[in-house]
Amino acid sequence: MIFNVQRTLLSAALALSLGSAMPAFSAEPHPQILADAEQYKAPALKLLERLVNIDSGSGYEPGLTQVRDIAVAELKQLGFSIELVPDAAANNSHVIATLKGKGKAKILLMAHMDTVFKEGSAAERPFHIKDGRAYGPGVMDDKGGIVAGIYALKVLKNQNFTDYAQITFLLDASEEVGSEAAAELIRNTARAHDVTLNLEPGRPADGLVVWRKGSATAVVEVKGKAAHAGVAPELGRNAAMEVAHQILQLGKLGDAEKKTTINFTVLKAGDRTNVIPDQATAKADVRAALPEEFDRIERDLARVSANQLIPETQVTTSLKRGLPPMPQTPESDKLVVIAQGIYAELGRQLTIEGSGGAADASLSAGVGTPTLDGFGIVGGNIHTPQEYAEVESVVPRVYLLSRMIMELAKR
Ligand SMILES: [Zn+2]
Repeated sequence: MIFNVQRTLLSAALALSLGSAMPAFSAEPHPQILADAEQYKAPALKLLERLVNIDSGSGYEPGLTQVRDIAVAELKQLGFSIELVPDAAANNSHVIATLKGKGKAKILLMAHMDTVFKEGSAAERPFHIKDGRAYGPGVMDDKGGIVAGIYALKVLKNQNFTDYAQITFLLDASEEVGSEAAAELIRNTARAHDVTLNLEPGRPADGLVVWRKGSATAVVEVKGKAAHAGVAPELGRNAAMEVAHQILQLGKLGDAEKKTTINFTVLKAGDRTNVIPDQATAKADVRAALPEEFDRIERDLARVSANQLIPETQVTTSLKRGLPPMPQTPESDKLVVIAQGIYAELGRQLTIEGSGGAADASLSAGVGTPTLDGFGIVGGNIHTPQEYAEVESVVPRVYLLSRMIMELAKR
């Protein structure tokens, strides 16, 4: 009964937001897709086990190559053409796998092959399942994403579904550390597609990620004048005192309403207690959900820092931009409505979340391609030895991704 009420509300929401383009969701799951997703549960977990038991920490060439070879073999079986894009910074190659169909939509799937775990982690704590959770290095981030992608594509192949113009599966070899070549590849590939589904893990509460903050580093440099701290301190201009003053006032440039944060984390000044320091620097981690907030912070750094504590010191500020934000947009909201409608076919609910961390999805969204993230297998404790994946999320997540591709192909 509760489900019926929810579905009625959902139908109304869909009709409002999508108008005549309302997708064909029903209270019932698509029977063949669900049957396929269910029959693939065991083999999907088997593939996950194989991938988790290979160390593929960023830059670890032998393991990355093994993971890549397994993924490439699976994708070739599905009919994909494979292009390897070598990247010296990644110490490996990124994979661009493409499959042509008969429809109009160009859909990009992304996942990454590297993990944050060093060589030897797989031997220390190999893949195992306990109380419904699978454990092992990278089990959810992002080997669960690779597995979800491959099995969703297997489901579509079983259905002879070819209503897309092209599906591209991009496998990044260096997501955890980033590389300029990978960033360029993602931007260029995303530009050539209508929509991007990023297969980072589903959030612990069975969520998708609809926005991500972008990142930047604020740098404050102070030049003062050195002097003997005991004999003639009045002749010095204390750069350490000035930078301390600056971080107290510049640290207030965040905006809670806009989710913009600035946190000073690295400070340097002086190296001897008896010398008034003539140099000091401070660096801050800056995060923003709105792209224009970085421009605002950059301007305010310069404006506010003009208010100095120590006369005759020189203060300069700068902002080094990192990954752009992935903003929540009307387009991403439409993708969310489609995903929620599909999950409702299973009587399940997706939570919609944001993240302070930047990811490959941010690069895709940054070039204006509608992007939604969190389509991998659901899990938690990301980047820790306790990282886990929910075994019971394999079937609904493979179902969700297959159906999502089907719905997007119609557009
Ligand atoms: Zn990841």
